[in-house]
Amino acid sequence: MAGDIEVTESRQAIVGTTPVRRALPLRGRRTVGAWCFADHIGPVDVSRHNDVGIAPHPHMGLHTVTWLLEGELVHRDSLGSEQVIRPGQLNLMTAGHGIAHSEESTRDDDWTMHGIQLWVAQPDSTRHGPSAFEHHADLPIVELDRARGTVLVGEFGATRSTARSDTPLVGVDLDLDGAVDIPLEQRFEYGIVVLDGAIDVAGTTVKPGQFAYLGTGRDELGLVATDRSRLVLLGGTPFGERVLMFWNFVARSRDEVDAAYASWRVDDGRFGTVASSLPRIPSPAPPWGPS
Ligand code: MN
Repeated sequence: MAGDIEVTESRQAIVGTTPVRRALPLRGRRTVGAWCFADHIGPVDVSRHNDVGIAPHPHMGLHTVTWLLEGELVHRDSLGSEQVIRPGQLNLMTAGHGIAHSEESTRDDDWTMHGIQLWVAQPDSTRHGPSAFEHHADLPIVELDRARGTVLVGEFGATRSTARSDTPLVGVDLDLDGAVDIPLEQRFEYGIVVLDGAIDVAGTTVKPGQFAYLGTGRDELGLVATDRSRLVLLGGTPFGERVLMFWNFVARSRDEVDAAYASWRVDDGRFGTVASSLPRIPSPAPPWGPS
């Protein structure tokens, strides 16, 4: 049965030196489908004195999904990938057992950065597996009456992205300037991050800095934008595995986090090396202390 819309204020956080609005994880709701992390970045003015670059850091047990509305970054990872990402393109990195990457500025002049960084928890069947990197420059577009959808991951209506997903999942960017009914999957739960403007979601107004959660059981959803607005719709079958997230690691147990923390600290090769001029970011120590 379709429940009410639950709107939560995002938390202010700092990544590097950049303020972000963290929509996920929420207290009491760690995941929406397998989506486990959502940082809305900017819009923020970037200059030599206010860099948005993120130096090399490790990940495990997740996919990172990077999507820009404005600006440009270069991704480098320990597989040797080097890829510039621009608005309309998707970077999807699979961490598996371990990978390291950086996301750095490409420009010295003043520019504006606006985007969203998402993480997807990998299921037990793939989270110990190899790492990988994909860049998608041509994502499928869905034209609706008053909206244009870009399918980042998974399937939206009958349109499927070629990006990897390990569990039933959807991620769609919607650019709206009116009223539209969008197709949903009854078995999926959903969340909406508004990136620009304001959206009426089934009667509730949602703005940037807020996260709207919709439970399972809907097969469509009415959205209304009075001015041109932009949102990301995230959905998937409720993730059946209980995740433990610490820093850049998605795990199931403290032992797994302790092992990853130790590997990054001593640089034992598990996460590899990123060809970056920036120094590696040290991991904070897990709050539960050494085991
Ligand atoms: Mn990262």
